[in-house]
Amino acid sequence: MIVIRLEAAVLLEDERRELCEFGRLIVESGLVVGSSGNLSVRRGRLIAVTPSGAPLERMTPDDCVVVDLSGTVVEGTRAPSSETPMHLALYEADPDAGAVVHTHAVFGAVVATTLPVLPAIHYNVLLLGGHDVRVAPYATYGTRELAAAVREAVAGGRSAALLANHGGVTVGRDLTQAYDRTRVLEWLCEVYVRSLAVGTPNILTAAELAAVERRMAQ
Ligand SMILES: [Zn+2]
Repeated sequence: MIVIRLEAAVLLEDERRELCEFGRLIVESGLVVGSSGNLSVRRGRLIAVTPSGAPLERMTPDDCVVVDLSGTVVEGTRAPSSETPMHLALYEADPDAGAVVHTHAVFGAVVATTLPVLPAIHYNVLLLGGHDVRVAPYATYGTRELAAAVREAVAGGRSAALLANHGGVTVGRDLTQAYDRTRVLEWLCEVYVRSLAVGTPNILTAAELAAVERRMAQ
């Protein structure tokens, strides 16, 4: 029992450090302002998550919190992110998910405020596991209702969703992949929003996307 606790503490210390590294990166990238985002990493039954209300670029590994899959705090002195239920729902939905990144990035929030879905403005949408990105219906932040809506929005093997009047979320095998997908999501949303300013964007058809999928599979 003591050995298990020691092993968990060592592992989670690494993950907490990684959360801080990506917390700084995500702020420097302009994807997050202040504490308007949260990140987590799963290792086995445990999840390291950023603390509630913390500026991501200034938090320390000790600020991060470890919870189990039920959301119970296992280690840490601060409250876990208010969006922990959403993170847990995404881990529950995808056994291969190793990290979750949630932000209020501007263009994602713009699309999520105006549309029910981000259409296939570019074939890079396939990097997010679908032919479009669904917008989960609005629900109050931090609620199980929002967590359920987001889980539904990523159903079918998708790794990203937008949250109506809120922001976006991505899942990855690790923080690097989840972060990269957050950047792809924001780029797609920016291209779409800017395209609307120029004219009527051309949306790729299912056949065109299927052709790209075949090429990617080669
Ligand atoms: Zn949020």
